[in-house]
Amino acid sequence: MSTFAIAQPKTFEKASELVRSGRYTLPQLKGAGLDILDHVKEGLESPDLLVNLAGAREPSRAPVRVEGQTIRIESGATLAQIAESADILRLAPVLAHAVGNAATPAVRHVATAAGNLLQRPRCWYYRNHQFECLKKGGATCFAVEGENRYHAIFGPGPCHIVHPSNLAPALMVCEGQVHVIGGQRASLPVAALFHTPDKGIRSEHNLEPGEVITHITLAARPASGFSAVKEKQSFDWPLAFACASLDIQSGVIRSAKVCAGAVAPVPWPLPAVEAALAGAAADDDAAIMAAAALAARGAKPMTDNAYKVSLLKAVVRRAVVKATGRTPEGLA
Ligand SMILES: Cc1cc2nc3c(=O)[nH]c(=O)nc-3n(C[C@H](O)[C@H](O)[C@H](O)COP(=O)(O)OP(=O)(O)OC[C@H]3O[C@@H](n4cnc5c(N)ncnc54)[C@H](O)[C@@H]3O)c2cc1C
Ligand code: SF4
Repeated sequence: MSTFAIAQPKTFEKASELVRSGRYTLPQLKGAGLDILDHVKEGLESPDLLVNLAGAREPSRAPVRVEGQTIRIESGATLAQIAESADILRLAPVLAHAVGNAATPAVRHVATAAGNLLQRPRCWYYRNHQFECLKKGGATCFAVEGENRYHAIFGPGPCHIVHPSNLAPALMVCEGQVHVIGGQRASLPVAALFHTPDKGIRSEHNLEPGEVITHITLAARPASGFSAVKEKQSFDWPLAFACASLDIQSGVIRSAKVCAGAVAPVPWPLPAVEAALAGAAADDDAAIMAAAALAARGAKPMTDNAYKVSLLKAVVRRAVVKATGRTPEGLA
């Protein structure tokens, strides 16, 4: 294992300066360190400096708070703090349930919001240092002819990872914004935070080195829902999941935002589903099922993951029904 220095800056500005100083070859920011230290242990990354952000947070600032119509989440808020926040449960249940469904209680109690967004993909070829795949500068995507049952059914290739964050698709349906320091901008929409592999295969996000996420904001979306299917309920990443938020007036869905997770290299918006939901009665299950059936439009499953197509339609239907305030048939 490589050795590295650890810095404990007191502010996000100092953290950003350290990364941009040029004094280190491979400086890395560290939230709780779950993913970054996994990379070091597996020999996938060899940073010479870890910049621990734990001390850069304002201790008196609540990890989650409501400011008018906006909800503010500190970048160092843990997934548990988000999932258990009464404000988030009331104003954006999709977010509470998405992060409450991620990982294990032990992970959720330390994993940070920013680290969750920027965690690297779970592709088993990527995670194994013996496979020098396209993402690591090699010539081949081993998933194409290899084991691809957990890979993407959407996206342009040539890498077929699925985006690993539960938080990102939930933020997508709540107009999530990521606030940053250390670069040319103050904030960017969550939708602009990530790029598909054809726009850059070695990384998944659009932050510049030294850009530090300070906090996240989102709009209140009380009519919102989340649904996921996992192989093992207790701790697996989902096989497919969906987040939905609805604007319902007088029992009619005026507009909808629906985003899928674990099916594409980025959080995957479903505009055909959103368009089909607009104008439907919120209790019209046939219309919701017909809209959910459009979720698979454009899907190109690989050799072993066509099963995700039917899972996707099911989780989209369930997420939308939950967003209407009802419990989908067959679910507790
Ligand atoms: C058993 C298990 C199951 C899991 N299941 C799920 C799941 O179902 N869903 C899910 O979403 N996740 C799951 N995870 C992943 C886990 O949620 C992430 O590893 C965790 O959220 C990473 O957060 P962290 O604070 O430890 O990030 P770190 O490892 O500290 O950082 C991750 C990345 O983010 C960058 N970073 C961190 N903070 C900032 C910042 N403020 N500004 C800019 N860059 C920053 C780091 O440089 C690094 O590149 C699981 C993990 C385990 C171990
Ligand atoms: S899907 Fe991406 S990360 Fe996985 S083997 Fe292919 S190129 Fe590598």
